[in-house]
Amino acid sequence: MAKDDQTFTTTDAGIPVASDEYSLTVGPDGPILLQDHYLNEQMANFNREMIPDRQPHAKGSGAFGHFEVTRDVSAYTRAAVFQPGTKTEVLARFSTVAGEAGSPDTWRDVRGFALKFYTTEGNYDMVGNNTPVFFIRDPMKFQHFIHSQKRRADTGLRCHDMQWDFWTLSPESAHQVTILMGDRGVPKSYRHMNGYTSHTYMWVNAKGERFWVKYHFETDQGIDFLTDEEADRMAGEDPDYHRRDLSDAIKRGEHPSWTLKVQIMPFEEAKTYRFNPFDLTKVWPHSDYPLHEVGRLTLSRNPADFHAEIEQAAFEPNNLVPGIGPSPDKMLLARLVSYADAHRARLGVNYKQIPVNRPKSPVHSYSKGGRMRIDNVTDPVYAPNSKGGPQADGKRYPEDAIWSASGDFIRAAYTKRKDDDDFGQAGTLVREVMDDAQRDRLVSNVVGHLKKGVTEPVLARAFDYWKNIDKEIGERIEKGVKA
Ligand code: NDP
Repeated sequence: MAKDDQTFTTTDAGIPVASDEYSLTVGPDGPILLQDHYLNEQMANFNREMIPDRQPHAKGSGAFGHFEVTRDVSAYTRAAVFQPGTKTEVLARFSTVAGEAGSPDTWRDVRGFALKFYTTEGNYDMVGNNTPVFFIRDPMKFQHFIHSQKRRADTGLRCHDMQWDFWTLSPESAHQVTILMGDRGVPKSYRHMNGYTSHTYMWVNAKGERFWVKYHFETDQGIDFLTDEEADRMAGEDPDYHRRDLSDAIKRGEHPSWTLKVQIMPFEEAKTYRFNPFDLTKVWPHSDYPLHEVGRLTLSRNPADFHAEIEQAAFEPNNLVPGIGPSPDKMLLARLVSYADAHRARLGVNYKQIPVNRPKSPVHSYSKGGRMRIDNVTDPVYAPNSKGGPQADGKRYPEDAIWSASGDFIRAAYTKRKDDDDFGQAGTLVREVMDDAQRDRLVSNVVGHLKKGVTEPVLARAFDYWKNIDKEIGERIEKGVKA
């Protein structure tokens, strides 16, 4: 018998159950009775415990904390979350991209860096990566890109030939592939990597003045990485290495932090800048647009229920609050649609009522019904109405994160500007940012990758791709593969 102060087991309906160990049978040896509703509930719930993985970014980890503004950037944005002295609760989720939910944390891959700020004016989500650029610049290619990084249809295997086939036929990938194949392709831990919006966003200040911005969350732990050998070893020894590291560090009271800095481009300058500033495959050089500090992100609390709070966390770049808006980056504009759609598919239409996704500011929307609705809906259920329902306040919250556009309907690449190319910034990274040791590791990582099943004609294209980035590096890679 359980002690008086011990909680007793119940069904999900709160009904006390008689046994944790025995199903209800006809005599000790007899058949199980269909009326054992506790057993039925246990079996049925178990069969439904898993929800679909995210596609991509399936394997990830997260924690809660806060963002504190340390500098005054109110001249650039009126967003409540970035006003001087403001402290906002935040959820962060870090992830790999291509692997499944059980895949090793230390596979070479880009890392997701997603944040949800529970602001006083609604949830603001920043869904970035640990790299400042991306593989492609048009969303039409996104699904194809992810397919090429995941598994083949025939064998169900991942395939380097498929990866390089896509990359070498998509030269705009060169900058991101260079970062991926360098040290930053396997961070030492989630704590030892930066986070970037990668996309350009718009900030709007209280006077309605507009600016283009890029965010950089610089790790206060310092950038650190694992070599290919270390990463391979760790994939066997502890596939959850990064998840464990984050959780253990927070448990120990070593709260990881990142300093948010932004690059700011005056609105008009985007029209004449020497390359398209909205092209997601490019960074804005620091010499043209220096970094301005904004504040500090600190993670201090592990999730209490990983499934409820991390697996069900739904980040969506369309969650933009007053004072922050999108830019004409085509990749971003597509993501504004696809993320919320993914959440509806994975979690159901009422996913914003799951506690981790629920805003901490009041919600007065006209959404109603749908599966798994938790909040009661009150009348009136339509607008306009004369029954006291919520009314949009366009004076206080004007639609001013806007730009103008005109042109024929067309399927085409961005208009080329003077310095728009696919290889220039990747070459700068190799020649001017990396040191000799980093370049050696880059060559060795690429050679190792290409030797794992990349065949002609893809291989020859891969050598040319690297020679276009940097002639010497390309020649070293070719020599290494052919040795
Ligand atoms: P800077 O010399 O001012 O910046 C170079 C930046 O490169 C560093 O500040 C650091 O950014 C980042 N970096 C250092 N080592 C590596 C590495 N192994 N892999 C990837 N990034 C690294 O020059 P520019 O601003 O003119 O940029 C030159 C090149 O640096 C770019 O072509 C791009 O490849 C890379 N870079 C530029 C960034 C930018 O926003 N301007 C951001 C990141 C990379 P951080 O402090 O963010 O770690």
